[in-house]
Formats: sequence, C-alpha cells, structure tokens
Amino acid sequence: MTLLAIESSCDETSASVLTDGQVLSNIIATQLIHQQYGGVVPELASRAHQQHIVRVVEEALTVANVTKSELSAVAFTRGPGLLGALLVGASFAKALALGLNIPLIEVNHMQAHVLAHFIQDNPNQAVPQKAVPPFPFLCLTVSGGHTQLVRVDGPLAMHVIGQTQDDAVGEAFDKSAKLLGLPYPGGPLIDKHARQGNPLAFRFPMTDMPGLDFSFSGIKTAIMYFLRDHTRQNPTFVADHLDDICASIQHTLIQMLLTKLERAAQETGIRHVAIAGGVSANSGLRQRLTELADQQGWTVYIPDFAYCTDNAAMIAMAGYFKYQHHDFVGQDVSPLPRMEL
Ligand code: ATP
Ligand code: MG
Ligand code: FE
Repeated sequence: MTLLAIESSCDETSASVLTDGQVLSNIIATQLIHQQYGGVVPELASRAHQQHIVRVVEEALTVANVTKSELSAVAFTRGPGLLGALLVGASFAKALALGLNIPLIEVNHMQAHVLAHFIQDNPNQAVPQKAVPPFPFLCLTVSGGHTQLVRVDGPLAMHVIGQTQDDAVGEAFDKSAKLLGLPYPGGPLIDKHARQGNPLAFRFPMTDMPGLDFSFSGIKTAIMYFLRDHTRQNPTFVADHLDDICASIQHTLIQMLLTKLERAAQETGIRHVAIAGGVSANSGLRQRLTELADQQGWTVYIPDFAYCTDNAAMIAMAGYFKYQHHDFVGQDVSPLPRMEL
C-alpha cells in the first residue's frame, strides 16, 4: 500500500509518501513570514499553506517516484493546531481522496509526534534500522504547543499521564529567546548559545506541580524580572552574558522535564523511555536524558532531527497504522483545533 500524508497544523506545510511502512519522501516548507512578527500569525499561516501545498505534495510524489493513481489512501492532520491552517490540509486531503476514490485517514498530530519513533526511512537496508521502542513505553512529548507525559501501550493506544497546566516548554524556550532579543523560533538559538555557556551561572526558580503535571508560566515571569533587574544595573548585561543566560535557562527547563520523567518511570515501572516533538531536538535535553538513562538503567529512544519538529512523515506513519485497522473517515470530517490524544 502507498499512502500520501499531509501536515498543516502550524507553520510547516509538509507532505510525505510512505510505502508499506517505509517513508519514501518527506518535504517540508517552513513559513519564514512569521519571523518578522516574533511568533506564528494564524491568518498568515493559512495563506502560506494555500500557497505551498500543491508544490509540496507534487514534490513529495516526485521524490518518492509515485503517481497519484498509485495511492491507496490519503492521511491528514485533523488536530490539534490552528483552525485555518488545519483547514487547508484537511480540504486538500478530502478533495484528493474524493477525486481518486480512495480512503481518507485522520491523524492526531500529538499521536504522530510519538509515532515518529517508528519511521524507517532506508528502504535499501544498507544502514542498520533504528531500534523502535517496545510497548509499553513512556514518551515525553515536548513541542511548541504541548508538554505531555504519555504512556504508550500500542501504536494507537496512548494515555496522557501528565501535562502542562499552562505554557508548553517549547513556548518557554521561544518566549525566553524573545526576551533576550533572539528571533523566532528561539528554541534552537537558545540551544546554540547554551553549548558555550555555564548552565549553573544563574539560578531560576523551578515550579513543581503535584504529580506528573508541569507548569512553565512561572519561570517565564522569573526570567523577565531577572533580565529587567540586571539590565537596570548593566545595560549590556544580556550581550555580555548571553551564553551563560541561555545555558542556565535551558538547564532549568530540562531539569523540570526530567524530574517528572523520572517520577513517571518510578510510578509506572516502565523502563523504556522516549522523547518526541520539536524540543526533543535540543542537544542539552538529549545529552542529559542519555546520562539519566544510564544512571537509571533505562533504554532511551531519541528521534532523528528530521522527525522532531513538524513533518508529514510522522503523519504518514500514524496513517499507516490506522490503514491497517481500516480506520477511515468520511468526507464530513472537519478539523479539531483542540483534538485530545
Ligand atoms: P505542537 O506539536 O504542540 O502542536 P508545534 O507543532 O508548533 O506544536 P513542533 O514543531 O513540534 O511544535 O516544535 C516546535 C518547537 O520546538 C518550538 O517551540 C521550537 O523553539 C522548539 N525547538 C526546536 N528545536 C529546538 C532546540 N534545539 N532546542 C529547544 N527547542 C527547540
Ligand atoms: Mg513549527
Ligand atoms: Fe508539532
């Protein structure tokens, strides 16, 4: 079976072709227009998706060397995400499925982030295939809009056992970067500066929520006051200490994530631990998770960089699992901006 998948939940227009579980193409058009506004502008995102989607889908088919008539199904992101952005992908997928008379598959974006771990993308087997996590495993999904601890019992059986009560950790990265005058999205830039800085140079208060839930709004405010007070005393404080500030912010955010992950592993007794979502590209998180895993005797699963941030390959993977269960939807399906896992 050959499947086309479309992702359009936020500011990446992406299309991917998968054949029998193997990803053949994964084309991503990142919308740069939002940079000048310091964050994603929903209306501009929808328009950019409309401009890019035809070219992105065509390129995904061309790279995969697949024609539309060979497709067995079309998968698309139904939610969560921005309504206008989701509508573009959903409408395109519906029209294509209707025109080709093939099944339509809805995918939950957060489920897809987790299923990125099952992507196999070397059809020729020349390179050893990556180990996939066995069920059940724990997944810490950390992205621009979500921070979730997920117990994964099967490809389509996931349970959120903890989540943020306010901001997502990706948002905390991006907002901290904005306060430091770094362009959007600032997460990768904090990561870059943090590599040259001292993580213990500055201390920020960590909010500990009961149980397995997270809170990142307090630290954002703490950073804001910290920068305001230091800049008053020394107007070039940020420029003078950028690497140390980034390293310290990153250290604190990672500590808050790993504290909960450790607690979740203790409570569930699960020792296979994965990370997913845009923030799982963070080099500090990857390193400290690996160290913690060594110490705790866990096996860790870290996605390839290409599959951390938004991409349609993960939507294709989720679509593939659903295809096997004939889990299709009708033409009356509409996007769900707040779709739950
Ligand atoms: P969601 O998946 O919750 O709907 P999203 O799709 O916008 O949100 P992703 O594309 O998965 O989120 O991730 C984007 C986020 O990842 C941004 O907040 C970005 O700053 C962050 N990010 C990407 N790379 C890094 C990195 N190296 N270090 C820290 N954060 C990073
Ligand atoms: Mg994005
Ligand atoms: Fe995402």
